[in-house]
Amino acid sequence: MRVYSFCLGFKMAFEIKERDLLARIGRLKTKHGTIETPLLFPVINPSIQPISPRRIREVFGYEALITNAYILKKHFQNRPAEKGLHKFLGFDGVIMTDSGAYQILVYGDIETTPKEIIEYQEQIDTDIATILDWPTGWKATRKHAEQTVNETLKRAKQLFKTKTREDILWVGPVQGGRYLDLVAKSALEMGKLPFQIYALGSPTEVMQSYRFDVLVDMIMTAKMNLPVEKPLHLFGAGHPFMFSLAVALGCDIFDSAAYAIYARENRYMTEYGTSRLNELEYFPCTCPKCSKTTPKEVLEMPQKEREVFLAEHNLYVCISELRRIKQAIKDGRLWEYLELRAHGHPALLQALKKLKKHEDFIEKHSPAVKKSGLFFFNSVGLIRPEVVRHRKRLMERYSPPKEAKILLLIPQTRMKPFHKSQELKETAKLLQHILKERLNEVHTCFYAAPFGVIPIELDEVYPLSQHETVLPLDKETVEYVANQVANYISRMNYEMVVLLHNPENWNETILNTCRKTCVRKNTKFKYLNIKEKRSKVMSTRLEKILREKLSE
Ligand SMILES: [Zn+2]
Repeated sequence: MRVYSFCLGFKMAFEIKERDLLARIGRLKTKHGTIETPLLFPVINPSIQPISPRRIREVFGYEALITNAYILKKHFQNRPAEKGLHKFLGFDGVIMTDSGAYQILVYGDIETTPKEIIEYQEQIDTDIATILDWPTGWKATRKHAEQTVNETLKRAKQLFKTKTREDILWVGPVQGGRYLDLVAKSALEMGKLPFQIYALGSPTEVMQSYRFDVLVDMIMTAKMNLPVEKPLHLFGAGHPFMFSLAVALGCDIFDSAAYAIYARENRYMTEYGTSRLNELEYFPCTCPKCSKTTPKEVLEMPQKEREVFLAEHNLYVCISELRRIKQAIKDGRLWEYLELRAHGHPALLQALKKLKKHEDFIEKHSPAVKKSGLFFFNSVGLIRPEVVRHRKRLMERYSPPKEAKILLLIPQTRMKPFHKSQELKETAKLLQHILKERLNEVHTCFYAAPFGVIPIELDEVYPLSQHETVLPLDKETVEYVANQVANYISRMNYEMVVLLHNPENWNETILNTCRKTCVRKNTKFKYLNIKEKRSKVMSTRLEKILREKLSE
């Protein structure tokens, strides 16, 4: 009975409160309290710690930290076990322990065994524990990578025979490095084991070399093959400028020593990059540290004091960035936030563009309705799930009204919903006048950025009216809309297409695409220049076109 209730408890260990893209605000329950994710676990090294664990929680608000079980065992042997890890570190929040796997990666083999590391983590009473996995690393050959995946899996299976406690959450690391098929295999097999948390191993070197586009593939491959609702940890992710990207891809927790390592090297983190302290004339930050001094004064501090100053500033920056990300998730504005951050560094924008490859999966798991509308800045936004979803739904689920014989394509209007615009009201009046009881034979659709084709009866469905778009449109966006128009005409069976052509916003692209598609499909095609839209000439021409067609 006891075991059963624990199992139940574990099932509930991670509760999701809010979502946007693959990101979520969640609550992770541990035996030492519940933490809200996404969260950064600062790495604590008891031997060289610049800021005390207690201060990290009380002053900076970090409810969790991570330390290394292998280092503890090597330097402090039984002391953490005798005192209990929380007392030993002087930290009352949630403690996660890493296993020493990173030390394997850096220093080669280490002097312990997977079994010892499991037992040790139970003895010291950690809250979240990690098996001694075998990191693949970045430079591994395929053969070596395969070996690390298989050995990690073997050790993962051993865990469930070795562990004796039920109240510790265990982390199952996914390996495979840059071999995505191996990452997939590793994630799939690890996902079958009852870990409470999964993790992506060895991305540190990828991040250090700014290959965020590769990181996107690694995270997405793991994510697509793991149980999607379980929390995902990203090892060694410590720079705030990439938090939003990792969170958007479904990473819930991170750990990093970067705040301290950067401080040692006089590097000052911001949410959009890194500065060297000696290059700063002004602090671009209003944290309690930076608001009281200047870069010049900090440079003149003794080394230790300066290191603490920078480490504390770095911790402030990290947690405030996480707060902004959580607010963006809550507001349904994470995509806009991602675009903002991506423009801080070309490597991040490149990574954001890489999401194109994974747009179907992201769309499938993103919320369909949000509180806020969309801001569409440029063609990068074509990857966002709302745009992908409209395209898929129109293709898979939509068919025009049965009586419709003529497709009337009208450009987007400034006013939304489009059908309430003055231009459309005038056109509707004209159609009523010409067609009378045969009005249903004409089907009005809008062509609009970024969504493509919007049938008039759908233009109030979220988010087809709830978006702001930058004009003039970039070339890729115009081409995207033109492709959507072509696909729509090709799939449907209208007898005729009439285009209201607006060269000002759309140059000749929509016109040429429509014409070509109609020729290919052997569909009758006419167009009217929008400049004549309100003129008598245009009305007369539209009337003539429609009457001719209806009299056939
Ligand atoms: Zn600061």
